[in-house]
Amino acid sequence: MPDIIQLLPDSIANQIAAGEVVQRPASAVKELMENSIDAEATQIKLIIKEAGKTLLQVIDNGKGMSETDARMSLERHATSKIRKAEDLFSLRTMGFRGEALASLAAVSQLEMKTRLPDDELGTILVVEGSDVKKQEPVVCEKGTSISVKNLFYNIPARRNFLKSNASEYQHILEEFQRLALSHPEISFQLIETDTIEYDLPPGKLSQRIVSIFGKPYQEQLAPCHEDTALIKLTGYLGKPHFAKKKRGEQFLFVNKRFIRSNYLNHAVMSAFEGLLPENSFPFYVLFIEIDPKHIDVNVHPTKTEIKFDDERAVYAVVLSAVRQAIGAHNLTPAIDFNADVNIITKLTNASAQSKEVYFEERFSRSIDRTNLENWEKIFEGDNSPMEVKKPEEQAPLQTLRFESALNQTSEVTEEKVCFQLHQRYIVKQVRSGMMIVDQQAAHERILFEKFLHQIKHKSAQSQQTLFPQAITFNAADFALVMEMQQEIEALGFRIEIFGKNTVLVRGVPGTVSSRGEKELFEGLIEQFKINQAELSVPLSENLARALAKRASLKSGQALLREEMKALIDSLFVCTSPNYSPDGRPTFFIFDLTKIESYFNRP
Ligand code: ADP
Ligand code: MG
Repeated sequence: MPDIIQLLPDSIANQIAAGEVVQRPASAVKELMENSIDAEATQIKLIIKEAGKTLLQVIDNGKGMSETDARMSLERHATSKIRKAEDLFSLRTMGFRGEALASLAAVSQLEMKTRLPDDELGTILVVEGSDVKKQEPVVCEKGTSISVKNLFYNIPARRNFLKSNASEYQHILEEFQRLALSHPEISFQLIETDTIEYDLPPGKLSQRIVSIFGKPYQEQLAPCHEDTALIKLTGYLGKPHFAKKKRGEQFLFVNKRFIRSNYLNHAVMSAFEGLLPENSFPFYVLFIEIDPKHIDVNVHPTKTEIKFDDERAVYAVVLSAVRQAIGAHNLTPAIDFNADVNIITKLTNASAQSKEVYFEERFSRSIDRTNLENWEKIFEGDNSPMEVKKPEEQAPLQTLRFESALNQTSEVTEEKVCFQLHQRYIVKQVRSGMMIVDQQAAHERILFEKFLHQIKHKSAQSQQTLFPQAITFNAADFALVMEMQQEIEALGFRIEIFGKNTVLVRGVPGTVSSRGEKELFEGLIEQFKINQAELSVPLSENLARALAKRASLKSGQALLREEMKALIDSLFVCTSPNYSPDGRPTFFIFDLTKIESYFNRP
């Protein structure tokens, strides 16, 4: 039998590859604009006609190409961006496959004009279905201009498959917006059939957001920022009441690349939980910066999915940073200053004019604010235009009590400035302002790390129970307990089989309170199962988490000063003190400058 296998001609191979890279005009727009960004352009102009079906052109002022490079750029797998496989793991450019131009040239009539900044003449190349029709020197601007005409002209099936102009244009807009958002330092223009749709000057991200989405956004943005060893997170969130019925305005970028991630979107949405009207979606533009060695961008040809090597850690940071941003910018009254709230509700009920008078009368007098007597004098015989509460209920007095509480404890050292707020938080003075520790979240973190360590090193102390308790499980749970017996004992429990599906708890971890052994053990197994359904973590981590959750001190528990101090000290020797095991922040620092801004201090 004769040999029958043949290599496909390049033009056909390119057409096939094009199906992967170029699905519609919007994908061409994305590829061309990304190339301009990679070429370090500071101005990028996109011109389209008929939703890109007849023309899409990208003009940039980037570094341009030499004559040879211009020709080479149209070859498949021709790229200037990576040289070897390892480069994939330190990628900083948008493109790297070297497929886009070859693919576009295979399925359109493509014209390229390009010039290196220092050359006098540039190069023009005309290609039709991978056939180079013309290549010659030309007078042109520095940078590169590429026109893609009549996309899929040679593949009718694909061309017919395109959607209506409105729908294709929508896709183009999406790509344009994503790139414009992730590169606010570059100026962008979008010209649709001779009208300028967008003209975006270079600027800061917040300015870019406003120039794309409109003025009303200005008031609605809360900055979000977090810097950890693993990732840096920056960006803006829309306030909850600004949330839209449509999901469209949610943007997540990893190393400036737009990505879709249901998982991380879930982190953002969880942070907003309880604050949004039903079926509404908050605006967000968030950027994650991460060392490229921790991600794999190579999983999807159109590159909107990526893999993190530790997705759960990223999730925890996103969740907590967004929560923090929502709280810190008073999108919710997370920091519950009753005092402020009282004044504000009062003021909003009053007319604008009386507001001013009220403020003037109350706050413009020069007084010694540290002296309670002076304050009382001010409120005595007060005839402000609004009905004002009695002095004891006044906001400034509450603030003052708060302050004197601080004063009492601040006599000696900073160490001592520590008190419990609503039996939930521990407040402590720190150099940059005021630290508020969530006692429950912090304790969970401390216990979690401790338990994890104990399981690993089998180092837990056990405390004999006075009256060993028998616990009967259903068959499945009993099997689970038996399966984990070793780890459970490593935590300090002592159990033995005691009849059918029953265990006897003879000892409990030395460090947790000795009452309620039965509840503790049952709770541990229950929590373990809940975790198992929600997360995929190793057994030992799950156990440590479950016990930390069940054994931690709870909100509402009064603490002695020594206990508060010990808790804070133990928290800050943890490996990851910032978050509880399930990603809630453990503490928050209320910055002195922020506090001062509440008092109109310059
Ligand atoms: P990739 O971007 O994956 O490298 P492309 O096919 O998109 O592959 O581009 C091939 C090469 O052509 C790029 O690596 C780059 O060297 C060059 N190139 C493409 N577009 C431009 C441009 N606008 N300015 C300068 N060089 C470009
Ligand atoms: Mg490219």
